[in-house]
Amino acid sequence: MFNSNLMPAALQPFAPVHTEAPALPAFSTAADAIAAYSGDDHIYALYPSKIKAAARRFVGRFPGRILFAVKSNPHPEMLKILWEEGVDTFDVASIREMELVSGLFPGAKMYLMHPIKSRATIARAYSLGIRDFSFDHEDELQKIYDCTGEAGDLNLHLRLSLPSGGAVMPLSGKFGAEFDAAVALLKSARPRVKSLGICFHVGSQCLSPGAYDRAISYGRTIVDASGVDIDSVDIGGGFPVAYPDMPVRPMDEYFDAIRSSLIANEFGAVEIIGEPGRALCAEGGATLARIELRKGHDLYLNDGTYGSLFDAGQFAWKFPVTLHRRRPPAPSQFLTGFRFFGPTCDSADTMNGPFPLPSDACEGDWIEIQNLGAYGQTLATQFNGFYSTHTVVITDETL
Ligand SMILES: *Cc1c(COP(=O)(O)O)cnc(C)c1O
Repeated sequence: MFNSNLMPAALQPFAPVHTEAPALPAFSTAADAIAAYSGDDHIYALYPSKIKAAARRFVGRFPGRILFAVKSNPHPEMLKILWEEGVDTFDVASIREMELVSGLFPGAKMYLMHPIKSRATIARAYSLGIRDFSFDHEDELQKIYDCTGEAGDLNLHLRLSLPSGGAVMPLSGKFGAEFDAAVALLKSARPRVKSLGICFHVGSQCLSPGAYDRAISYGRTIVDASGVDIDSVDIGGGFPVAYPDMPVRPMDEYFDAIRSSLIANEFGAVEIIGEPGRALCAEGGATLARIELRKGHDLYLNDGTYGSLFDAGQFAWKFPVTLHRRRPPAPSQFLTGFRFFGPTCDSADTMNGPFPLPSDACEGDWIEIQNLGAYGQTLATQFNGFYSTHTVVITDETL
């Protein structure tokens, strides 16, 4: 997805993390955070009350162990709030992600669920206490075995490639073993590991609870064909968040569908794992961006698709927006649909929306773009010198 020379910026959130890192500036409202700001960049806002609410929809309700998919938002503040809410296990993919988590929460349980890892990553993971790894190929299985000194205490999770359907962002096609390969891999892995499971990802922003049922039933046919017993089923992430024009079913409907499907497919006695990313962190993060110029119904902002708004550009997602104005007159009551442009000189830095905002929106107004806590800030690059290092906490508990 990204050109390699953009990666250093994407790795930014991993800059030295210490448990004693200075507290982020806190404000009771986004308007206060804007009023206190003298910098020229956009601002990232985290809403602890919304993060806690999302965690409470999962903890104690999801029928199994919850792993937070760290890639969706690795900000230490996000990780700490989720941790305090009882999300104590992490799905990590890289050495930097595992060092971030173990630095913040020494001894925290982590699963390395990237199906394709470097040898150094596997060795580092094992030395950090990780015993859970995913794989989707015989050679990867051998790599895991080699790099852990043929350890006898491995819990391996075979990533299945799923027939697609139900998600706004399908994740099939890159990872996962097809039916016959999966059957063979279960057979060859079984004698070498302490515990063996299957895992899959139905695709991000999965709008159909039935997609989990189809994936679980498909997993059952593979396990039956292999004739081996498995110890766990990891149903991955994909749990959705409501965006404008994209209403979602209540999370409990997903959990009920998953629970019934597990029982119907005779997985009632195995360990169940889920890896939510978006559903835990999307609503708790926002970007505050300033309008630099208005041309008709086009607003030129100081953040865009090379910043936290990648999905608004690439996938034309309509994030919820509100306008904050620092001086009178009050914004118009009438709404107009606007298109956004980001600050870089690339014409791909365009977000078609339309985003409904007061019709007199103008230079100097700030726009709060919500539900960007997942795959927002973490995707931001430093392209063209436009980026922000300013993150604030909004403490309003009524939200
Ligand atoms: C990205 C990812 C997740 C999180 O997905 P969401 O759709 O954000 O819930 C979980 N597991 C794996 C293996 C992933 O790659």
